[in-house]
Amino acid sequence: MFYDLHMHSCLSPCADDEMTPNNICNMALIKGLELIAVTDHNSVRQQPAIDKVAKAVGIRVLYGCELESSEAVHCLGLFARLEDNQKLQPWIDSQMPGIPNKPDYYGKQQIMNEFDQEIGIEDQLLIVSLNASLDEVIDEIHRCGGKAVLAHVLDRKNSITHELGFIPEDLKYDGIEVKSEEQRQLVLKLHPWIKDEETVWFIDSDAHRLTDISEPDHWLRDSDFRKLWG
Ligand SMILES: [Zn+2]
Ligand SMILES: [Zn+2]
Repeated sequence: MFYDLHMHSCLSPCADDEMTPNNICNMALIKGLELIAVTDHNSVRQQPAIDKVAKAVGIRVLYGCELESSEAVHCLGLFARLEDNQKLQPWIDSQMPGIPNKPDYYGKQQIMNEFDQEIGIEDQLLIVSLNASLDEVIDEIHRCGGKAVLAHVLDRKNSITHELGFIPEDLKYDGIEVKSEEQRQLVLKLHPWIKDEETVWFIDSDAHRLTDISEPDHWLRDSDFRKLWG
């Protein structure tokens, strides 16, 4: 199925205010995507609205987030069930450094309902490193019943290769996100211990604006979906 499993709603300060649950789901539908996930920085508070809107418009979703470890590495947590995804929030709250957001500088952090009405504002700045290590972040995603996908692994900021230097052989991730087929080849070349056939690869948009949501260019095999999410 055509997918985009990494995009940010208006809860992420860096995303456009127009990234509301209805706008995201409808744009994904118009573009011809069949499976999406909204992955806000260090929060799953937008997911209940995403769930309702996705069901109303008839698009399949995974329930997501993009967590930043204490090493400043970004890792997606993707869940088949909303209730499992929501179990993450108390843990995230306990690992936040507690820095107040400055909306005029970083942007607003809006929590919406299924009608795109603001029902809350997140006061703590979400684009921060949690107090937990990458190992702990991955363990917590697994404990709550989700899968961990290493985000944009060759980026020059907040990627595992930039922050740690490489992808450790014993790291318990479930998938790897790259930006292109060329990047996939490069990751394999740099990491002889990564088995191409055993790895589930993702190419997502990391959209912060509606127009950046993926076109139907990337296909997730049913077998890979089932392997991760049953
Ligand atoms: Zn990121
Ligand atoms: Zn992102």
